[in-house]
Amino acid sequence: MFEITVLGTSGSTPTRERGMPSVAVVRDGLLYLFDCGEGTQMQMLRYGINMSRLKAIFISHVHGDHVIGIAGLVRSLALNNRREDLEIFVPAGSEKIVRSLVKFDNAIIGYRIIIKGVEAGRIFSGRDFSVSAFRLDHTVKTYGYVISENNKIKFNKVKCRKLGIRGMMFPELLEKKRINVNGKTVGIRSVSRIEKGKRVVYATDTRPVRSTVNAARGADLLIHECAYEEGEIALAKERKHSASVEVARLAKSSRVKMLVLTHFSARYKTTAKILKEARSIFMRTFAASDGYRIRI
Ligand SMILES: [Zn+2]
Ligand SMILES: [Zn+2]
Repeated sequence: MFEITVLGTSGSTPTRERGMPSVAVVRDGLLYLFDCGEGTQMQMLRYGINMSRLKAIFISHVHGDHVIGIAGLVRSLALNNRREDLEIFVPAGSEKIVRSLVKFDNAIIGYRIIIKGVEAGRIFSGRDFSVSAFRLDHTVKTYGYVISENNKIKFNKVKCRKLGIRGMMFPELLEKKRINVNGKTVGIRSVSRIEKGKRVVYATDTRPVRSTVNAARGADLLIHECAYEEGEIALAKERKHSASVEVARLAKSSRVKMLVLTHFSARYKTTAKILKEARSIFMRTFAASDGYRIRI
């Protein structure tokens, strides 16, 4: 299971109700952050995210609203006596900017921070999931991220029992794909099925693009920026952001199970209109507010 918390839902500048962009994903007790806007550590405290379990940070692009929080966060972790390495993934070519946030003063940081340049493709492998990156279309080099749980093999228990498969035969069957039971060879496929792993896609900041449609095809959840209402499509195009109906159309054509909108322009007091516009096209749309949590 992935426990996903949208920590900040404003874009560019905060409002009284909305903090800066960051999404926390917890898997097997470990924390992965997607973007780290100013005040992300405060939002983690507010919404009960244990920052000492932080394993890696994935940065979409190096606009200030998505990275400035790194400066404070890495110092707090140091004060909390962190010793484990921390990996920070950033679009290739932006490593220096993130390094400057880590190194600008003489703070003593007693753990290793490994900054890795991201190109499209698989960039991270967890115990039973992976993260891959795909290009987005924004004013600077930007990547979206796909979090994919590995497919699982589910045994048909009734069939297995009938054939006499039990105990340590299961790991053997998993490893060799076939096994000898009572003088008979049994192939793994005849006694199991494949359960598809869950898939979560994170796309911000960006125009609605084909690469996102492809990455999100059939995904369980798409978290997509939605800076503007429908009436501001021209502005969205000019600033390389997305408007409500555009994102909803994208979600519809990629057949995602659920769309969560975030990164709203600070000009909007509420997101009600954005949500209504998006839902007129794609019903399973939700507008995140800070602390919005979902389990997939
Ligand atoms: Zn932004
Ligand atoms: Zn941006």
